[in-house]
Amino acid sequence: MILYDRKLATVYKEYGIMLPISPSRADRIVTFLEQNGALEQAPVKPVFDIPGALHILGDREPVITRADVERVHQREFVADLYEGSEGLEQALLNAWELIDCQGRPNRYEPDKKLKPLEGLFQNVLAQVQGTYLASRLALSGKEGRPGFCYYLGGGMHHSRYDHGTGFCLINDIVIAARKLQAENRAVLIWVIDVDAHKGCGTAELVRFARDRGELGYSPKGPDICNLSIHMASGWPLDPETLKTALPDRAPRIEADAEIPIPQAGEALYIEALEKGITLLETRSQNRSPDLVIVVDGADPYKDDELLSSSPLKLSLEQCLQRDRRIYEYLQKRRLPSVWLMAGGYGEHAWEPAAYFLKSLIKTAGKPYRKNPLGLGI
Ligand SMILES: [Zn+2]
Repeated sequence: MILYDRKLATVYKEYGIMLPISPSRADRIVTFLEQNGALEQAPVKPVFDIPGALHILGDREPVITRADVERVHQREFVADLYEGSEGLEQALLNAWELIDCQGRPNRYEPDKKLKPLEGLFQNVLAQVQGTYLASRLALSGKEGRPGFCYYLGGGMHHSRYDHGTGFCLINDIVIAARKLQAENRAVLIWVIDVDAHKGCGTAELVRFARDRGELGYSPKGPDICNLSIHMASGWPLDPETLKTALPDRAPRIEADAEIPIPQAGEALYIEALEKGITLLETRSQNRSPDLVIVVDGADPYKDDELLSSSPLKLSLEQCLQRDRRIYEYLQKRRLPSVWLMAGGYGEHAWEPAAYFLKSLIKTAGKPYRKNPLGLGI
């Protein structure tokens, strides 16, 4: 199913943030599916809002508590978010990189703000809640079919232990995963991150928890295993960042399975992805996960408009192959999965997820076809 709640879309311009993030990306995906007669069919039939998700799950109210955030992030950082107006504003300015190193506004026009910047925190919490509920929906798969839920939001994989960065304030992926584990809904969770940028925050949060001995390696092995397949160069791995980063904060903190794609390496992408999944199996000591979280960024797409994702340019067909390979792997092994929309910038960012979801209707129950866009078939 799809979890889609129009109220969760963030209109960044209302906060004076001038990024090429289209507030209508999720709308366009849903409209496209509707126009193609896909919306009423499994597995993409939508749940249209958070109350609808709660009704299915039999819950009364959506709850992401401060304790859920503190389970993952540094307490002082969380206190800034929940308590301090100055601390919150600074955290938001940092996370969206709105002030440059000379103290000047960067892609930020405070005079054009219609809403106070602090309001963004509530939007972020709503996104985290969506990721958590979509994960629960995926885990509630019925009739022997592995659960599948595509959440049209979430994927804030850059958010670090004690600060936000890369347009990601707090890390919905790890917060949701740890909450599910604390509630005994899952033991082992995989993260398959195919956004163009490295999932540096997720890697750090998983690693830090292990190093602190709070969570992580149980006698049976790790409880979150993460794969990141990303651009080999460019943000967040650029040399300038690495020079100034403290050793324990360096963006090179490795995921359990790392697959960097070199520039002009698009033709190798699918093979590399398959290697990455095999590596993930090994790192998990061949234990089967209870849930797989797919961070399904659209920014590897060649028509994405964010400059920092330009070293990777997958065609629409390659994006579709990427998603289909993951989906078919999960289906074959009967693994429940939640998919997060994650990064995607500009007017075409809706296309990869839309074509992927449409393909699930056209080929449901049938073998993978060589003409996955369905053109001329
Ligand atoms: Zn990205």
